[in-house]
Amino acid sequence: MTDFDPSEYDPQTVAIRYGYQRTPEGEHSEAIFPTSSFVFGSAAEAAARFGGEVPGNIYSRFTNPTVRTFQDRLAALEGGEACVATASGMSAILATMMGLLKAGDHVVCSRSVFGTTTVLFNNYLARFGVEVTYVELSNLESWEQATQSNTRLYFCETPSNPLGEVVDIRALADIAHRRDVLLAVDNCFCTPILQRPLDLGADIIIHSATKFLDGQGRCLGGAVVGGAERVGKEVYGFLRTAGPTLSPFNAWVFLKGLETLPLRMRAHSDNALNLAQWLQSHPAVTAVHYPGLEDHPQHAIAKQQQSGFGGVLSFEVAGGRDAAWSVIDATQFLSITANLGDAKTTITHPATTTHGRVDPEKREAQGITEALVRVAVGLEAVADIQRDLARGLDALG
Ligand SMILES: *Cc1c(COP(=O)(O)O)cnc(C)c1O
Repeated sequence: MTDFDPSEYDPQTVAIRYGYQRTPEGEHSEAIFPTSSFVFGSAAEAAARFGGEVPGNIYSRFTNPTVRTFQDRLAALEGGEACVATASGMSAILATMMGLLKAGDHVVCSRSVFGTTTVLFNNYLARFGVEVTYVELSNLESWEQATQSNTRLYFCETPSNPLGEVVDIRALADIAHRRDVLLAVDNCFCTPILQRPLDLGADIIIHSATKFLDGQGRCLGGAVVGGAERVGKEVYGFLRTAGPTLSPFNAWVFLKGLETLPLRMRAHSDNALNLAQWLQSHPAVTAVHYPGLEDHPQHAIAKQQQSGFGGVLSFEVAGGRDAAWSVIDATQFLSITANLGDAKTTITHPATTTHGRVDPEKREAQGITEALVRVAVGLEAVADIQRDLARGLDALG
């Protein structure tokens, strides 16, 4: 089964079956095509391919069959017309900006986005005359107020890292479209299994495939999903010219990751909710941030636009940085690393790692306190994860 209408199938089936053209060898698992160029039958055929009169592969900076399978499958899962795969999540964001913006354009961006995304805007795109204003993610009025006559793009992540803040995507898309602005959503934390931003009105979806799409912390990659013109031509045009394309090896790993994505996302969400509820009841924990908790400020919106709450949560402990670090250091099998979306649970102290370069006052104002610990909940038995965290928490008394 290769060519079928993905809208008629469950995502679980699409994630396993869609988009592959089996070769004459009859292989069952998808083949990898590690080739930089492709061969033509004649000079005339080469001329026709280069001239665009005949479709087909020319060079792997433009197209590659393994990469195409990953792109087609992810596009089907997100409900998008086009998907372009990139070498990393950051190059997906870069390709989007370079493909769609020009000097003099303005972007409104959520304050709660991946740290390197703000570095890309502030240190690099700014040099080329693209201006950015940062706003509070869930405050729709602040997006509207920040919009200027030259605003071309809204950019956000929902839920955000590490506090799990959520924005109403449909409402934000409405505000954007009334002003002729495009909405790009970094869907890294939910993946299309838990949230489909295009269905809610977003125009562009960004992925760091490095995270849940891989699922086992092996490869870097990214993707942009959206319309045939905007993503399939404009973003793709930058990518094939500048070259931060995805390697076929990594595309193959992500294809294998997609096969289990629906099962994994539900398991990550179940484990995280279970852990969040347990943390709430622990006397050493002063706050738990997880959109699946009923007292989370955007719980109602999260419940409406997501079919699960994802695998990332954070919590605060009494006693500031020393207490937070002691909880992290008391764990025995949790990995002290900033990656997320892995079968292995990871634990970090955002204030001194992922958000360490943010001005301390701004950081505190955003809620990233010294007492905050982030856990990207993996797929180990939740009772064991709990026990590993309890070691340090119980010692805090
Ligand atoms: C990791 C991450 C990125 C960047 O992806 P890379 O693959 O590391 O380049 C972008 N957005 C979010 C939300 C991320 O978590």
